[in-house]
Amino acid sequence: MDRHGEEFDLIIVGGGPAGLFCAINSSIEEKKILLLEKMGSPGRKLLISGSGHCNISHIGEIRAFLERYGEAGRFLRPALLGFSNDDLISTFECHGLSMIRTDEGKVFPETLRSRDVLDLLLGLCRAKGIILRCDQEVRSIARSKDGFQVLTHDCLYSSALLVLSTGGRSYPATGSTGDGFGLSKVLGHSIVDTGPALSPVYIRNHPFSDLAGISFRDISIALFRGRKMMERSGDVLFTHGGLSGPGILDLSRHIRPGDTLKLSFLPALGRTSLERLLMERSQVDGDRPARILLADLSLPSRFISRILEISKIPNNLKSAQLTREMRRALVENLTGLPLAVERLGGYDEAMVTRGGVDRREVDPKSMESRLVNGLYLVGEVLDIDGDSGGYNLQAAFSTAMLAARSIKARWTTPRD
Ligand SMILES: Cc1cc2nc3c(=O)[nH]c(=O)nc-3n(C[C@H](O)[C@H](O)[C@H](O)COP(=O)(O)OP(=O)(O)OC[C@H]3O[C@@H](n4cnc5c(N)ncnc54)[C@H](O)[C@@H]3O)c2cc1C
Repeated sequence: MDRHGEEFDLIIVGGGPAGLFCAINSSIEEKKILLLEKMGSPGRKLLISGSGHCNISHIGEIRAFLERYGEAGRFLRPALLGFSNDDLISTFECHGLSMIRTDEGKVFPETLRSRDVLDLLLGLCRAKGIILRCDQEVRSIARSKDGFQVLTHDCLYSSALLVLSTGGRSYPATGSTGDGFGLSKVLGHSIVDTGPALSPVYIRNHPFSDLAGISFRDISIALFRGRKMMERSGDVLFTHGGLSGPGILDLSRHIRPGDTLKLSFLPALGRTSLERLLMERSQVDGDRPARILLADLSLPSRFISRILEISKIPNNLKSAQLTREMRRALVENLTGLPLAVERLGGYDEAMVTRGGVDRREVDPKSMESRLVNGLYLVGEVLDIDGDSGGYNLQAAFSTAMLAARSIKARWTTPRD
């Protein structure tokens, strides 16, 4: 069949969760919708999300959600209020895929299989008559008198309306290689500097390299760039090359090479109270090794050995023998050991991309470009990135739904 020159009412570029959901929800009977995906099959990143379990959203009041996207929260407000976490959950449940909530508030399909989420979306696409074409990498887009001309390696398609849902640059093997940034730029959009986010961090001369796998619950992490930039708390995991875990991943969008991170391994105890506690205990239990005092504070044994070594305290030193300097060094290292950031993990490790199409150039009430009539941008191609825990998929679905509703309204409400 010769597809060259085929015309559509709407072309959606990118078959990730945002593109698929936008296609499903913009569909009306008399409109011809084409979804173009560059890979051999759609939704490859969705399949690996949440380690294949698909952490689709998070519970909680939607206004509190907005803080999880940093400065982009304000932009996302209409999309998230218009199609919230509860709406997303009930949409999937209405179609027969029940959802479960973890104690931390993460939402997953009951089957814990991303494949079931993708199959449901693909089934809905089929039912709605969406034309899905894979192995169709969009190479260029040009504006025409009546809309857009979309060129792949072997076809030229045209449409009145266009949605860009090409994602970011993370995990490029899934197909998300940042094509949408170049395509939007050619159409006149600015791109806010992109970089890896939700990424592990590599530490110069990492002192806990051989302690990889040890983790700390809800400890405080301070970020310094000359001065203190911010302080957050969260779970932290030691890796071979540095630090990971939700607390680090969520902060990573703000971290740059050369920054310093200071971890407080005993956040319930401030510097002064920790020092007082160590002093009191060594007076009462002077014969016990200092390491046992630390074990009483629930610190892991291998970590205690290393922190004593860093503080230049012999491993079996009795607590009564702790000098003032030693105690001060120990307290300092337990509440704010400086760790120099060498680099962030690359796009092959970062779960999302920060930066993207400038939010100021997109109407947050419709997801339509403010610069190009009939162009909509949804999902991670935009300058939005959220914390770990389901916030990124929720943003992809909510922005897609908003664009779909705007497109439908455009089709059903006559414009001047
Ligand atoms: C390992 C991993 C785990 C994750 N886990 C979670 C999680 O549990 N919860 C959560 O909320 N978020 C998670 N995320 C983030 C989440 O998956 C993304 O934010 C989300 O997939 C973005 O959706 P999207 O549709 O905007 O883009 P994508 O999912 O990136 O989809 C974009 C699609 O566009 C296609 N495409 C790109 N360029 C072109 C082109 N030129 N022509 C045609 N097609 C093109 C791509 O092949 C791709 O299929 C995870 C990410 C990773 C990498």
